[in-house]
Amino acid sequence: MNLYSTNNRALRVPFRKALFQSLPADQGLYMPVDVPRLPAEFWARLPTLTLPQIAFEVAHALLQDALPAEQLRRIVDDAVSFPAPVVPLSTNTYVLELFHGPSLAFKDFGARFMSRLMGYYLAQEGGRPLDVLVATSGDTGGAVALGFLGVPNVRVTILYPKGKVSPIQQQQLTTNGQNIRALEIDGTFDDCQALVKQAFADEELNQRFRLTSANSINIARLIPQAFYYVGAYAQLQRLGHREVVFSVPSGNFGNLSAGLLAWKMGLPVCQFLAATNANDTVPTFLRTGQYQPRPSVATIANAMDVGNPSNWARIADLFRDDAARLSALVTGYSYSDDETRAAMQAAFDAHGYVLCPHTAIAWRAWQQWRQAHPHESAPGVFLATAHPCKFPEVLAPGVAAQVEVPRQVQMLSHRDQYLVDLSNDYPGFKSWLLVSATA
Ligand SMILES: *Cc1c(COP(=O)(O)O)cnc(C)c1O
Repeated sequence: MNLYSTNNRALRVPFRKALFQSLPADQGLYMPVDVPRLPAEFWARLPTLTLPQIAFEVAHALLQDALPAEQLRRIVDDAVSFPAPVVPLSTNTYVLELFHGPSLAFKDFGARFMSRLMGYYLAQEGGRPLDVLVATSGDTGGAVALGFLGVPNVRVTILYPKGKVSPIQQQQLTTNGQNIRALEIDGTFDDCQALVKQAFADEELNQRFRLTSANSINIARLIPQAFYYVGAYAQLQRLGHREVVFSVPSGNFGNLSAGLLAWKMGLPVCQFLAATNANDTVPTFLRTGQYQPRPSVATIANAMDVGNPSNWARIADLFRDDAARLSALVTGYSYSDDETRAAMQAAFDAHGYVLCPHTAIAWRAWQQWRQAHPHESAPGVFLATAHPCKFPEVLAPGVAAQVEVPRQVQMLSHRDQYLVDLSNDYPGFKSWLLVSATA
């Protein structure tokens, strides 16, 4: 597999380099040179395949000879070790539950696949271990920490702002031990991010450690997200459906990019709904043709608080020769916090099903699209990107009482928390990194 940069279509970089580099030097994003269409034979067989089998075939088609097929199969089986069920809620309305992984959010797919690929190549090289530095405001860090847990030759250091992550998030970050270290920074998320940035620019640290950010826009985090779109379609095929509308709660637009990648590979999607909170850069663009990134605004669906979505460059690139196709295939919707709360309540009243705020935005977009297209027979699948128990402060009391906390999370509250308290000053952070490495 070779990749080019969205800023330089002539560039050719092998997969392994893109995996460890995350971003090309020209600040574009890596994209696959070949996005093969999966053959008719595959789509005919699809209803008989399990999610790991589907994941292997999709990944193999994309990655080709980047690693031996049997190694890829092993990595996929290990990474995709939890289900992504399509659950019917009412006639033609389905929810794709992507929250059955260790951090209870869809980011587990990307983090687990990327971490295992890195582990595989590191073992091949037999070289220096990798140090992953991550600043998190809560959600992404959990997926990365749990994704790398136990992966050989990798050590992860997570920085999170003291007192500013939810209790469940704190447990997910701090109860791991093994190769995961949690630093509680007396400061804000921006302070955490500034410390990490400074470390990456620090020559002494770069000589001492092999540092990486395991960045969220890494191509290896995108590919496994195509798996569950195809997996959802397999489940719909078994129910007799042949086409589908996907509604995707979107912030940085990685999830929608992956859906469009699956569509390029032949997935029969008649419409994608790009559902956002008040950060409506993309819905506005789809309506007006004007792309105007803005500073993000804070909302209750805070994992989608992105005013300048990085992955939009990937989507624009996929449709660079056919902008009309993009606006025909993708419809944008955006909702205020009040509308999001109302949607959470309405979905609960209609289906007795509790949605996290991000997911509620996708549900609402599907309701709106459906009303505008009464003669369309394709079913709608909205993506549930996180388990509602991760956002207790947003749930109405009557609804919160209905949420069952999954067992893997309940168990965390009995575990010891390992964390190191640091102030937000750089010299202290740096000397901790150096001293703890020799300890
Ligand atoms: C990250 C995240 C999103 C946004 O996904 P993008 O790929 O950035 O568009 C939506 N919901 C939840 C719960 C998330 O954690």
